Amino acid sequence: MKYSYVSHLYCPKCSSTFDTKNQHQLCTCGSPLLVAYDMEGIAEHLEPGHLKERKADLWRYHELLPVEDESNVVSLGEGMTPLVHLPRLGVDMSLENLYIKDEGLVPTGSFKARGAAVGVSKAKELGVTAFAMPTNGNAGAAWALYAARAGIRSTIVMPRDAPRITRNEVAISGADLYLVNGLISDAGKIIGSAVKDQGLYDVSTLKEPYRIEGKKTMGLEIAEQFDFNLPDVILYPTGGGVGLIGIHKALKELKALGWTEGDLPRLVAVQASGCAPIVKAWEAGARESEFWHDSKTKAFGINVPKALGDFLVLDALYETDGCAIAIDDDEMLEAQKQVASLEGNFVCPEGAAAFAAARRLKEADWIREDETVVVLNTGAGIKYPDTVDIESEMLEKGDTLPK
Ligand SMILES: *Cc1c(COP(=O)(O)O)cnc(C)c1O
Ligand SMILES: [Zn+2]
Repeated sequence: MKYSYVSHLYCPKCSSTFDTKNQHQLCTCGSPLLVAYDMEGIAEHLEPGHLKERKADLWRYHELLPVEDESNVVSLGEGMTPLVHLPRLGVDMSLENLYIKDEGLVPTGSFKARGAAVGVSKAKELGVTAFAMPTNGNAGAAWALYAARAGIRSTIVMPRDAPRITRNEVAISGADLYLVNGLISDAGKIIGSAVKDQGLYDVSTLKEPYRIEGKKTMGLEIAEQFDFNLPDVILYPTGGGVGLIGIHKALKELKALGWTEGDLPRLVAVQASGCAPIVKAWEAGARESEFWHDSKTKAFGINVPKALGDFLVLDALYETDGCAIAIDDDEMLEAQKQVASLEGNFVCPEGAAAFAAARRLKEADWIREDETVVVLNTGAGIKYPDTVDIESEMLEKGDTLPK
């Protein structure tokens, strides 16, 4: 029995195929590449029940992951995050079956660790010794730290305004860190020329094919945690859209294996009103998005003006009868308070946006009261201390509490 049943890479745009033994970036046509597996081989050797005996991390799905030799796995124990029912918030939103899939509990404090774990492991397997990437913060933090564990050199460029903690995570990993007075798209241009000039492996979002595979494990876990009876709706805070593309891919693979039946969950791409290119495209019924100028939101992880994989995100929404919705920063921060005060979870602003979206879609009857709804909280609220304004009274020594 093989560790991985990876078979090849393919282009979702022009159908070209590539091997998985050499380093590949984008397809020759400019599209991101996707990873294919020998599904029959997996179906022959693996049953859902086998998973129960495995370790509670994302490598439990190794047959459906691209790393072929287990000795190349670079892991900090990521994956198998809690799926938690939210009864009090559910009553408040009139959603009986509201769940959080909590990615605040992975190494590095965001779900970016999943993409980094699989991406860095595969890079190691392919003999990569140095890579470069632009980031809005969390991805750079995760990739820099996993690179440190793998002994790979990393070069990271991030906007000056990215959350300070993510900058510190990159710096302490020993990566080469640069700040740019601009957006992630500006950081991307700088990385693009560095990759050309210095022959670095480009691990920008979707420019290497394996990050999606790591993020896909969120979908595999959600399915397994529901005993392969899939929920009705999954809401996901969408920037580059890798997580949403990954979840969609995961669920289709489980269907292909015959492990789950029926309709796929309706996937919802949640964006910030200050940066909503996918929402705009979905509303227009378009197949691709347009660059969003002067984007701005406190939810840094979803401040992506133009995603390379936008067409894959939109496909996922159309194929599952999903939708896209934009949330104002104020509403997002209000939802963040609600989740903390009713359920004791300090979610990140991106995750909070997805909660606000669930509330709005319930109010619009797009989600019904008895449907099973999963909100992805993509990171820990404690990574963004500045989103909370507190006014508490200062006491002097010996004071008594006001009545
Ligand atoms: C990167 C990020 C997102 C967006 O993820 P994509 O998969 O790129 O759409 C959402 N939330 C947080 C906290 C992030 O860091
Ligand atoms: Zn192509």
